Amino acid sequence: MSTGKIGVTTENIFPVIKKFLYSDNEIFLRELVSNAVDATRKIQTLHSFGEFKGELGSLDVRVKVDKESGTLTISDHGIGMDASDIEKYINQIAFSGAEEFLEKYKDTANSIIGHFGLGFYSAFMVSKKVVIRSLSYKEGAEAVEWSCDGSPEFEMHPTDKSERGTDIILYIDDESKEYLDDNKIEGLLKKYCRFLPVPVVFGNKKEWKDGKYVDTDEDNVVNATEPLWTRKPSDLTDEDYLKFYHELMPGKEDPMFWIHLNVDYPFTLTGVLYFPKVNSNIDLQRNRIQLYCNQVYVTDQVEGVVPEFMTIMQGVIDSPDIPLNVSRSYLQSDRQVKQISSYISKKVAEKLDKLFKADRTEFENKWDDIKIFIEYGMLTDEKFFESAKKFFLLKDVNGKYYSLDEYKKLIEPTQTDKEGTLIYLYTNDASAQYAYIKSTEEKGYSVLVMNGELDDHFMSLLESKDQKLRFVRVDSDIPERLIEKDNNSTSNLSADQTALLQGLFSARLPKNDHTQFIVAVESMGENEAPATLVQNEFTRRMKKMAEQQPGMAFMGQMPDTYQLVVNANQPAVHKLLDRATAKLQNDLNPIISEINTLNESISKIRADKDISDDNRKKVEEDEKKVSDLRKQQEDIVGKYAAEQNVISQIIDLALLQTGLLKGKELSDFISRSISLL
Ligand code: ADP
Repeated sequence: MSTGKIGVTTENIFPVIKKFLYSDNEIFLRELVSNAVDATRKIQTLHSFGEFKGELGSLDVRVKVDKESGTLTISDHGIGMDASDIEKYINQIAFSGAEEFLEKYKDTANSIIGHFGLGFYSAFMVSKKVVIRSLSYKEGAEAVEWSCDGSPEFEMHPTDKSERGTDIILYIDDESKEYLDDNKIEGLLKKYCRFLPVPVVFGNKKEWKDGKYVDTDEDNVVNATEPLWTRKPSDLTDEDYLKFYHELMPGKEDPMFWIHLNVDYPFTLTGVLYFPKVNSNIDLQRNRIQLYCNQVYVTDQVEGVVPEFMTIMQGVIDSPDIPLNVSRSYLQSDRQVKQISSYISKKVAEKLDKLFKADRTEFENKWDDIKIFIEYGMLTDEKFFESAKKFFLLKDVNGKYYSLDEYKKLIEPTQTDKEGTLIYLYTNDASAQYAYIKSTEEKGYSVLVMNGELDDHFMSLLESKDQKLRFVRVDSDIPERLIEKDNNSTSNLSADQTALLQGLFSARLPKNDHTQFIVAVESMGENEAPATLVQNEFTRRMKKMAEQQPGMAFMGQMPDTYQLVVNANQPAVHKLLDRATAKLQNDLNPIISEINTLNESISKIRADKDISDDNRKKVEEDEKKVSDLRKQQEDIVGKYAAEQNVISQIIDLALLQTGLLKGKELSDFISRSISLL
């Protein structure tokens, strides 16, 4: 028998391990089972190279709880260890400044343990004593028993173990009794060891008999040793992928599609990522990708490893090359990890492109569900934007899909404005903007549906990439002016007629603190609405953006400005104008001609280089007269307008179409409509 001191520089590492790593102490089981699996794989390898000629025998790893003796045992039939192996691998923890180190990284216990070869010692997080009983595969090896009660002193002596392999026996300490509970252990094995490559047995399978569960003779294997991602894609069917998905994500709908990742260089990575079907924002939960390291579960916190926009995907990634021993912020700046992230992003883009090319109909069927991922990716990842613009789809109001290129070709001949800018017309609410869409389509224009969460940002992104492209919402102007062309029709009325119409309508505009109205007159089709309410695209977007930005909220509180575009060609408007002209011209004409005379004289004086003091005075007086005359004119028009209910009727119809007619105004409109019947 030999005794000795474990070779740590710190006097007593175990209390440190216990104290600092406590919160994460369940990972001890992962560490010990992984060691057992490693030892098993080593014997398999030695056997296949002919270096071990004996019988392999059963290679299961067995985990056992013995409540009576208060022990948890992990047994394997791997390569085993002899006394010199234990001396080398267990006793010599070449670890300087352990205490200091652990203090620094106490929050990332999980990562340090595996990395610094402290795996085995994590057993002391939950044990008052640990015993190793092992028989090495080497010919003539002597079985050995090592034990240590948590002080740096250990004891080692030969023992009588006849089966090759190692038993690690943990005498669970009083604070950690939970690890003597079968359900607890089975739960942990399912969490960390579910896909380990060697069968891990925990007790016997149970069956329901005579009203209770009873043990059967069959081993209860907790893991699947050949998980799907380790197999060749060519050997797998869609059913296999779906089955695996449902094992990972019980109770979920079938995913839309999946990507099998497989790379050897410049890093090793395998995995399967699924695109879930997203029904609502509630579904956009993250942490559904599990990270494995050689089939050992590590974490489901994959930020940094997977491009941010893809963390809504589900599945597994397995890579021994992800540095797990470092903090999260370091992980995100690590070059290797960055490469992994961009590899995944590239793979996802390739897969989508393949789907797009191979089965367009199927791709279109999925589009509405995946659009938000793609947009998010394109908005946040320049490289992804470049690949995704080939398969990004735009959808028009009739449900037809176009790629960006196709759509450009489609609208180029009709929707290019006089500056050569291509105008993409869209609606964000097809039912509210129905009338606008209809009249826009009647002009031969195409209207897109852009009602997604990220569409506003996405449209800005496309605009920023192409100076000759602009998105304009259908209700931001009358159809004639949505796309400015050289032959855009303007009003065919005289200036006086236009002014009269403006006056009549201005007099009866609703008064509202939050909304401002400006009246414009246009000559549109006879069959088009007598008046249309439009909101300038630029102002609307500015306001919306301001609302979303803290500190700019005051802008969001500014009144909305709408333009009421009156259609001079519409019969009712025409009639109104004719009647008003006939009725008011005798009163208005003298005022108008006086204003004209005064204005002429004002401009004449202003045209002079040197204006005498007398003249300056005259201009001031004349300007005052003009303003008084305008007031008179306004009063006359206003008084007349007050009696013309048809004006309010026309205005209210325009408000109604935009959903702005509410409360008292709406009720007044209804009464007025009834009285007109
Ligand atoms: P790591 O596994 O990170 O090397 P550990 O502290 O977990 O660190 O184990 C140290 C070494 O002890 C292992 O590398 C291995 O050589 C040996 N070892 C641990 N457990 C076993 C086992 N069950 N069978 C054989 N060797 C083992």
